[in-house]
Amino acid sequence: MKQTFAVIGLGRFGGSLLESLIAADQEVLAIDNNPALVENYMDVATHAVIADAQDEDALRDLDLPSFDHVIVAIGHNQQASILTTILLKDMGVRHVVAKAENNLHARVLDKVGADQVVRPEHEMAQRLAEQIMTPNLINYIDLGDKHSLGEIKIANLKFANKTISELNIRKNYGLNVIAIKSQGRVVVAPESSEMIQIGDVLTVVGESVDVKHFESLVE
Ligand code: ATP
Ligand code: ATP
Ligand code: CA
Repeated sequence: MKQTFAVIGLGRFGGSLLESLIAADQEVLAIDNNPALVENYMDVATHAVIADAQDEDALRDLDLPSFDHVIVAIGHNQQASILTTILLKDMGVRHVVAKAENNLHARVLDKVGADQVVRPEHEMAQRLAEQIMTPNLINYIDLGDKHSLGEIKIANLKFANKTISELNIRKNYGLNVIAIKSQGRVVVAPESSEMIQIGDVLTVVGESVDVKHFESLVE
């Protein structure tokens, strides 16, 4: 489904975001007050314009309330980022995502009405730390109330070439296996007779402590 996006600020973050959206066949308006950067994205973006996002009249001319999402990808100039966010919300933009440089900047953006605030370096660092500490936990979703869903890669021979039933996963580890990804094939709602092989990725649901415990056993 095609959605419309405006990316304000074509630095490394805004530029990469724009490229990902275009690669996903979305419509993207690129905005920056630096003519050289706008020139760079002229052939990439659906449209690219030079504008100062702190200038209310300039923003109005771009009809931003008609866009599904507007991303404020200005970080370093916090004043510009904050003023742009206020102007966008005041003119009725539905979904404003703003990039923050630090915690205080994030709190201000939240207070002035940003619908979503991101801190890319901070969030990526957290994810990287998790990934390094738990290499077999490919994906993790906190379901709330102490439960979670995890995608766990089987890297320990002790768990390989055995069926779910032989491993007695529900009884021994407190987890329900809801899918097994094996060599590109996905078995949803596997039977207890399903064989687990090295490299398989199990989607499991259970208490978060049990998901983490199981992850520590399979490496
Ligand atoms: P990066 O994504 O590279 O980390 P950054 O977060 O450090 O970038 P800046 O370089 O300050 O942020 O800003 C990103 C882009 O936003 C720059 O290309 C800059 O020209 C643009 N920008 C800054 N202020 C405005 C403004 N008032 N109106 C439009 N664009 C702006
Ligand atoms: P139960 O009564 O515990 O559901 P069962 O005695 O009917 O199981 P099976 O369905 O063959 O027998 O399962 C044997 C064991 O395999 C179960 O006790 C459970 O530990 C494990 N098991 C089966 N299916 C799953 C699953 N989807 N996720 C986790 N463990 C499972
Ligand atoms: Ca930066």
